[in-house]
Amino acid sequence: MRIDEQDRPVALVSGSTSGIGEAVARRLAADGMRVVVHSRHSAEAGEKLAAELGGAYVRADLAVEDEARCLVGAALDRYGRLDALVNNAGISWPIPHDDLAAATPADWRRLLEVNLIAPWVLCTTALPALRRSPSGGSIVNITSHAGVRPKGSSVPYAASKAALNHVTRLLAAALGPEVRVNAVAPGLVDTPMTKDWAHAHELWRERAPMHRPALPSDVADLVASVLASTYLTGEVIVLDGGLNLT
Ligand code: NAD
Repeated sequence: MRIDEQDRPVALVSGSTSGIGEAVARRLAADGMRVVVHSRHSAEAGEKLAAELGGAYVRADLAVEDEARCLVGAALDRYGRLDALVNNAGISWPIPHDDLAAATPADWRRLLEVNLIAPWVLCTTALPALRRSPSGGSIVNITSHAGVRPKGSSVPYAASKAALNHVTRLLAAALGPEVRVNAVAPGLVDTPMTKDWAHAHELWRERAPMHRPALPSDVADLVASVLASTYLTGEVIVLDGGLNLT
């Protein structure tokens, strides 16, 4: 059966020129969605990926509120609808948990701005369009197992992801049944962000029941399942290869 172009659902995936976001964009396009690719800097990679996927590319620094709002506006200008928002863009760098002075207020502000407030701005800006989605709007926040257990690259990073997990539940309660809100909380994923985290890679290879970190495509598979599960809302799904059992 042929589906008219304007009937194909539209997904906006933030931070989708590398790592998890790129894998999610590729997977959703393969599933038949029209995908808005986004990045902060890498316009060339974004244009190339969008062309490959038959989607659109928008550049925006999500730490700047107006740019975050314009990202949603650009997606709507291009396609006139929005069915799924995947809040994937995020930042992280290692700060030892016991070195309290090393996690400065500036670090806290930067991490909360990008990892918590930017997803909030995207959710609130996208909400009217998500509510109009014929299939029911869906938000998937990419959080972290560090937001569930006392782990992760730094205390402020873990706190930013824990807050986004709770926002996920609060919004799911507030926005159903029109809009579903879930979080996918990965453990270690093999991406540019974690390429130098040798200790974490070793931990996953030795201790996790799956004996490896996740691939970006493992996360993308779960995001696609969450988007397809039209009764699922308010869940924070940990994807850590079973490390939390050890
Ligand atoms: P990545 O560095 O490849 O991707 C992060 C993306 O976020 C990049 O595209 C980057 O441009 C974008 N971004 C960062 N700051 C931005 C800003 N101010 N404005 C716009 N975009 C911005 O890393 P990744 O590992 O693919 O991470 C994707 C998400 O998954 C992040 O939210 C991260 O916290 C989360 N996560 C990653 C892991 C992991 O082990 N890699 C584990 C758990 C959660």
